[in-house]
Amino acid sequence: MPIELKGASRAPAGVAETDTRVRDAVAEVLADIRANGDEAVRRYSEKFDGWSPESFRLSAERVEEIVAGVDPQVIEDIRFVQAQVRGFAEAQRAAITDVEVETLPGVILGHRNIPVGAAGAYVPGGRYPLVASAHMTIVTAKVAGVERVAACTPPIRGEVPRETVAAMALAGADEIHLLGGIQAVAALALGTETIPRVDLIAGPGNAYVAEAKRQLFGAVGIDLIAGPTEILIVADETADPVTVAVDLLSQAEHGPDSPAILVTTSEALGREVIDLVDRILPGMPTRDLAGPAWRDHGQVIVAADLAEAWRIADSFASEHVQVLTAEPRDALTEMRNYGALFLGAGTCVSYGDKVIGTNHVLPTRGAANYTGGLWVGKYLKTVTYQEVLNPRTSAELGRVCGRASRVELFEGHARSGDIRAARLDGTPAWL
Ligand code: NAD
Repeated sequence: MPIELKGASRAPAGVAETDTRVRDAVAEVLADIRANGDEAVRRYSEKFDGWSPESFRLSAERVEEIVAGVDPQVIEDIRFVQAQVRGFAEAQRAAITDVEVETLPGVILGHRNIPVGAAGAYVPGGRYPLVASAHMTIVTAKVAGVERVAACTPPIRGEVPRETVAAMALAGADEIHLLGGIQAVAALALGTETIPRVDLIAGPGNAYVAEAKRQLFGAVGIDLIAGPTEILIVADETADPVTVAVDLLSQAEHGPDSPAILVTTSEALGREVIDLVDRILPGMPTRDLAGPAWRDHGQVIVAADLAEAWRIADSFASEHVQVLTAEPRDALTEMRNYGALFLGAGTCVSYGDKVIGTNHVLPTRGAANYTGGLWVGKYLKTVTYQEVLNPRTSAELGRVCGRASRVELFEGHARSGDIRAARLDGTPAWL
C-alpha cells in the first residue's frame, strides 16, 4: 500500500465534469457571441481584459514595428527554439505517410493526409506572456501545410505582449489578433464580421479557454483539452532532492490550480523534498501562484517499489511525467498514460516548455488517457479513397453488397450493388 506523506486538500479545478461554475459562465458568453458577433466579442474583451482597441487585428506595419522593438537576444532565442520545434515537427511529418494498397484483385484502397485549410492558434497570456505557445501552435501548423493561421493572444494588463507578437510573426502567423479568453476562442470558431472562422483551434489556456474549446468542439475542430498544467515526478533513492523540489515548483507556478505530484520509492527522499519545497517557496517571486498550488494540489506519495510507482503514476495520466530513477528509460515500457515523458536529470519539463523542440501543448485532467499532445498530425485530416479497376471483382463485390444491404433493410444500397453484379447475374429483377 502506498503511503501519502502529503495529500492534496482539493480536487483539481478546471474542466472536470463537476466544475459547473466555469461551464455555465462559458456557455453564457458563447450564446451571446453566437447571437451578437463582434459587438459581444468586444464587450467581453472589455469586461475580462479591459481591452477594446479600434481593431483587435494588428496590421502588418504594427507587427513589424513591434518586432523591431524586441531585444535582439530575445529574437535570436525565439529563432533558435522555433528551429528546434520545426526540426522535430518536420521529422514527425515525414513519418506520416499516405497509404495505397491493392486488397483484392483490382481493388485499390488508400488514405491521404490533408492539412486543414485554416487553423486558429491560441497563445495564452493572462498571467504570463506564453511566448513558447506561439512556436508550438503556429510553427507546427505551418509544417503541416496549413494555409491560413490566425493567432490570438490577450493583452497583458492592457499592454501588448511584444515578445509573443514577435514569436507569432516569426513563426509565420497569417493574422495576429490581440484577443484572449472565451471571446477569442468563440470568434475563431464561429467567425464574426471581422474575424473569419477557422476549421480547427489549437493551443493551451486556462480553465475558461479549455472549456470554451470543449463546448465549441463540433462547430470547430480542436487539438485537445490542454488546461492548467500538471507535473508528476517519479523518483527513486538515486534522485537529487533539490532537483525534485525545484522541478515540482517549476510547474506549480503556472497557477493555483496546477497539481505537482511526487511518487517515490524512497520515504527519506519524500520527506526531504517536502522540507526543501517549504524552504524554497517563500523566496520565489511567483510564490503567490506556486504556494496555493502546492498547498492545495501538491502530493507526495511513497510507493512500495518501482512497479507500484509506475502504476500510481499511470493512474494520474498526468500532463508531464518526469522520471528521476536509476533507469529512467524503463518508463517507456512501464507507462502508457502521460502527455510527455522527461527521462533523467539531464532534461526537465521547463526544457519541454521552452526550448527543446517537443510540443508543450499537452493533455491535462486525465485527457492523457485517450490522447497525446499537439503535433503536426493534429492539423491533418486522414481521408480515404477507393477504386475498383477489375470488372469481375466489382461484380463480385456487388453481390456481397446486395446481400449485406438487404440484411440491414437498405434496398437502395442493395440496388447499387445489384447493377454492378449484373455483369455476372444479368439484369436485376427489380429493373
Ligand atoms: P489565458 O490566455 O489562458 O487566459 C486569459 C484569459 O482568460 C483572459 O484574456 C480573460 O479573457 C479570460 N478570463 C480570465 N478570467 C475570466 C473569468 N472570470 N471569466 C471569463 N474569462 C476570464 O492565460 P492564463 O490565465 O495565464 O492561463 C494560461 C493557462 O495555460 C495556465 O493554466 C497554464 O497552466 C496553461 N498551459 C497549459 C499548457 C498545456 O499544454 N496543457 C501549456 C501551457 C500553458
